[in-house]
Amino acid sequence: MANLVWQIGDVRITRVPETVTAIPLVGFFPDATPEALAPHLPWLQPHFVDADGNALLSIHGLVVESQDQTILVDTCIGENWPETNPLDRSALLDGPTSPFLANLEEAGFARERIDVVLCTHLHFDHVGCNTMRVGDEVVPTFPNARYLFARTEWEHWRTQEDPGFAATLGVTVEPIVAAGLAELVACDHAITDDVRLEATPGHTPGHVSVRISSRGRHALITGDMTHHPVQWAEPAWGIAADSDGAQATRTRQRILAEHVDDELLVIGTHYAPPTAGRLVRRGGHVRLETA
Ligand SMILES: [Zn+2]
Repeated sequence: MANLVWQIGDVRITRVPETVTAIPLVGFFPDATPEALAPHLPWLQPHFVDADGNALLSIHGLVVESQDQTILVDTCIGENWPETNPLDRSALLDGPTSPFLANLEEAGFARERIDVVLCTHLHFDHVGCNTMRVGDEVVPTFPNARYLFARTEWEHWRTQEDPGFAATLGVTVEPIVAAGLAELVACDHAITDDVRLEATPGHTPGHVSVRISSRGRHALITGDMTHHPVQWAEPAWGIAADSDGAQATRTRQRILAEHVDDELLVIGTHYAPPTAGRLVRRGGHVRLETA
């Protein structure tokens, strides 16, 4: 299947998949009872909820091309699965290796072509391919890239006794810092004139989304400020892994207040294909309306 591509003014965004998996909705969102979900199912199916009522969850990277910069937003799971992770790796990835780097190259983005790597936050499924193993060594996967990490995010996780889903930090982020390729940036850092970070805290303390604005067109790469489109209809639904659930809800409510019924294209970091849509109000509920 061809990769999904979006053109926002002069900026081109390409989705490069790692995996799509089905997870029981109630297990993922404790508030997602069948009764609470019922009014939203007509628009969630078939793309975002399967016939058995499971949430479809995608893991992918997004390549943003802007002003001669090739920017990779999030680097998936790769080979770095945290041992403390209660999830089952084999439920997410078939076999021992991740297809992400091969898919990236096939999409026309060899490792050497990446100028900037941006991790929306430091959980294992966003930093996994930052590094790779060559023999006994762990080396940066993208040798010509500057790796951007929000300073707040790095300062938070590096001092945590229990890093939770950021448990792969030692092999995916610290070697980048040691190699001198890391740039610790503010949560509103501008990467190009058209592409900048935007603070969207809650899921993690230094979580950032990516705002794209070019020639009067606008898009937002969510990161994990949402995991699933149903959270636009139910912004108070959080997941166990949120650092601060109340803050995560406020972040979603801010985006809703600013963008319902406008032209913003929301591109979800964990949304299954078609992965992007606009926030519209229909019959009292907000939904993500895909093209
Ligand atoms: Zn994630």
